Amino acid sequence: MVPEEIFEEMERIGRMLESRGLILSARSGNMSVRVGDKAYIKRSGAMMGYLREGDIVEADISDENPEGASVEYKVHRAIYLNTDFKVVIHAHTPYAIVESMDGNDIEPADAEGRYYFYRIPVLDVEHAISSDEVAEKIPEAIKPYGAVVVKAHGTFAAAMNLEDAFSRITEVESACMLRYLSRSK
Ligand SMILES: [Zn+2]
Repeated sequence: MVPEEIFEEMERIGRMLESRGLILSARSGNMSVRVGDKAYIKRSGAMMGYLREGDIVEADISDENPEGASVEYKVHRAIYLNTDFKVVIHAHTPYAIVESMDGNDIEPADAEGRYYFYRIPVLDVEHAISSDEVAEKIPEAIKPYGAVVVKAHGTFAAAMNLEDAFSRITEVESACMLRYLSRSK
């Protein structure tokens, strides 16, 4: 049974991501919340921007492959088992995806981006989706800033609550958007 306050917060954050154009294809992206030995994660195929009752799966953190959970559950679980973060959001943020395509860490060009990040970490991996390689590498990469861009795939943000993780997603996307736009001035 998914606690009502967790569902309501996931639904609110999903709508905010959708309204800012951070979801792209409707069924992409995922988010989860860890509470003790449980993790609550978006159901595979559910739409992040329009979550309904039944779209969140309750999993035991010991379970490697809970039925119905997002295909990125293994990445969320790896973060929970190897860091102190309590929530994870993953979104197909368009400018971060484009800026990560060369596989190098992303150096912000604007003042706010530089305030938040020295460099935004990029995970250059062979398999980017539902990937054991990402699950293995992401805990260390996400610790410094609570954010990582998986090359040509999307952003993962981790924090102690969903609003902070959402904010981190927007900070990464803002820095990447301005870096992209700065090249066309
Ligand atoms: Zn993805």
